[in-house]
Amino acid sequence: MRGKPIIDTAKCKGCELCVDVCPVNIMAMSDTFNKQGVQYAVCIDEEKCTTCGACAIICPDMVIKVIKYEQG
Ligand code: SF4
Ligand code: SF4
Repeated sequence: MRGKPIIDTAKCKGCELCVDVCPVNIMAMSDTFNKQGVQYAVCIDEEKCTTCGACAIICPDMVIKVIKYEQG
């Protein structure tokens, strides 16, 4: 199953928990700031996402959704 995290960057508070929890290390913090004045989470290599859902589960503000799509 392929997929990727969709991040509501405007609501991200920059806690970095999703960065720490991702087993394939594809979550990182942006170089730029959102309207809250924090660097927000970004997925830097969607191709490697296993759709494990860990980032979405750990996010305290539930601003990540992991979408899955069929291969092919
Ligand atoms: S779903 Fe899993 S592999 Fe994909 S970005 Fe989130 S923590 Fe990483
Ligand atoms: S866990 Fe949620 S609030 Fe924290 S950096 Fe990741 S997306 Fe932002």
